[in-house]
Amino acid sequence: MEISLEQITLESVPSLSKKGSTLSILRLDKVHPVVSGNKWFKLKHYLAEALEAKKNTIASFGGAFSNHIVALAYACKELKLASVGFIRGEAAGSITLKDASEAGMQLHYISRNDFCDKNQLKNLYHQPNWYWVNEGGYGSTGAKGASTIFEIVNLNSFTHIVCAVGTGTMMGGLIEAAYSHQKIIGISVLKNNFSIEAEVKFLLNKQDQPFTILYDYHFGGYAKHTPILLNFMNELFLSEALPTDIVYTGKLMFAVNDLVEKKYFGDDANVLVIHSGGLQGNRSLAKGKLVF
Ligand SMILES: *Cc1c(COP(=O)(O)O)cnc(C)c1O
Repeated sequence: MEISLEQITLESVPSLSKKGSTLSILRLDKVHPVVSGNKWFKLKHYLAEALEAKKNTIASFGGAFSNHIVALAYACKELKLASVGFIRGEAAGSITLKDASEAGMQLHYISRNDFCDKNQLKNLYHQPNWYWVNEGGYGSTGAKGASTIFEIVNLNSFTHIVCAVGTGTMMGGLIEAAYSHQKIIGISVLKNNFSIEAEVKFLLNKQDQPFTILYDYHFGGYAKHTPILLNFMNELFLSEALPTDIVYTGKLMFAVNDLVEKKYFGDDANVLVIHSGGLQGNRSLAKGKLVF
C-alpha cells in the first residue's frame, strides 16, 4: 500500500465556478485506490494507538459497500495487524467485502437487529488483544486524524469549506482545523439525521466555529439514489473528469452545484470542496449506470 499524500491535488472546477463562486476541490480520493480519501486520515491515529497498546487485531463495523471496512482491511494488512469486520445484515457476497476478505479481514455477518447494539457485540466477541474502532471511525481520535487533512492545503484564502457528512467525524476534524473566518458546511447523506449536529459538537474542543449541516441532499436516505443524481454524476465526470460516488461525494457535488446556482455562498466566496474519496458505493450499481 502506497499512501502518498503527494498525489492529492487541489483542482479548480470550471463548470461550477463559471456559475458564480470560485470553487476548488481537494482530491483526497487520489491518496490510494482503496484506503481512499478521508478514511486514511480518520484511521491513522486509531491504528497508531492500537500499535502503541500492542494490540494485534483491529475490529470494526460496517455495511456491504463500506469504504471504512475495506480501507481498514487494507491498512491492517499493510501494518501486519489482523482485522475483523462485523457486517450489517444480508451483506454477504458484495464485491467490497470480497476485497476486504482477500486483504485478510475476517468477516462476521450480524443481523440488522443485533447490529444496532454495538456494545453487546463488543462484549460478546471481546478479546484482550483486540482494538475496537467505531463504525465509520466515529470519535475524537478519528476527528483528530481528519484535522490533519488541512496540513496539505494552504487554507487561509478560503471563505467556505464544504464536505459530505456521514458520522460527522471528518467534519469535526475540519472544524477543529479551520480558521475562525471560515464557514464549514456539511452535506448530510442520511435522511433526517438531525442528531448529527450534536454528534459533531461532541467531537469538538472548539465551540465557537460557525458550522452548518444541510439536510436536503440525501436523495431518499443513506446510499439511496435517483436517476437525477446518477445523471449529475455522469455529467460531472464527462465535463470535469471528476469521479464521485452515490453515497457521499455525488450528493456533495450535487449540493455544491445547487448552492452555487442559488448564490448561497455570496459574491466574494472562495469555496473549498473536500472530495473525501471512497467510490465503493458505486459497486452496488448495475453495470452501465455510470460512465466511469
Ligand atoms: C466515510 C466517508 C464520508 C463520511 O465521513 P464521516 O467522517 O463519517 O462523516 C464521506 N465521504 C466518503 C467518500 C466516505 O467514504
